[in-house]
Amino acid sequence: MELVRAERLEKIYQEKTVAVHALRGVDLTIERGEFTALAGPSGSGKTTLLNLIGGLDMPTRGRVLLEELDLTGQSKTGLSRLRLEKLGFVFQSYNLIPVLSALENVEFVMLLQGIGTRERKERAEQVLREVGLGDMMHRRPDELSGGQQQRVAVARAIVSRPSLILADEPTANLDSTTGSNLLDMMKELNEKKGITFLFSTHDQMVMERARRLVFLRDGGIVEESVHGT
Ligand code: ADP
Ligand code: MG
Repeated sequence: MELVRAERLEKIYQEKTVAVHALRGVDLTIERGEFTALAGPSGSGKTTLLNLIGGLDMPTRGRVLLEELDLTGQSKTGLSRLRLEKLGFVFQSYNLIPVLSALENVEFVMLLQGIGTRERKERAEQVLREVGLGDMMHRRPDELSGGQQQRVAVARAIVSRPSLILADEPTANLDSTTGSNLLDMMKELNEKKGITFLFSTHDQMVMERARRLVFLRDGGIVEESVHGT
């Protein structure tokens, strides 16, 4: 089933007098259950494309459909609600709330969704166990390694059971072993729980773990490949 459809997406950033053409007519469809990487050099448009698919920014031309809903026609509040209900985000710098424990960070999204205290705690504990942090739930971000913090970020992204997880260079700040382990964990969540992932990277090791690879260059898709499992 089709989850995302980007149609003829263009993004032009207007920087004072210069216009940067960051995306030049991208067409991309993501089906439910995919584990797909957007690859390409720095500046090729990966972050821009993820931001448009995630409703964090609006295209200059073209449109994004998320479960058949056109994001370009939404109000700011409509978009926030869609993001909260349908999407999970993982950023390269983890973006955890420093004063909250791992458990509280994961619970926070559900607080915004109006889920009751008890269910919040149970679900947060469960996903933290799933990402291998069962015995570190009460630590604050500064008491966790980079890899552990990114696992908390993944737990936070999946706990609300979104349709799609968008991860912008999730391993960029991790050493290669930690990065590989994080990817393996994400892939296991994809295979065992059917969670759909779209992530960006310029790291070869991460690309190798993707099932589908979409290469961007200068704001356009230049190549695609699909790997066996
Ligand atoms: P990637 O994530 O692949 O490195 P980006 O999507 O960040 O690529 O950037 C694509 C192009 O758009 C680059 O030329 C970049 O400099 C430019 N760009 C990105 N964000 C902005 C912005 N907010 N304002 C102006 N130019 C931008
Ligand atoms: Mg980027």
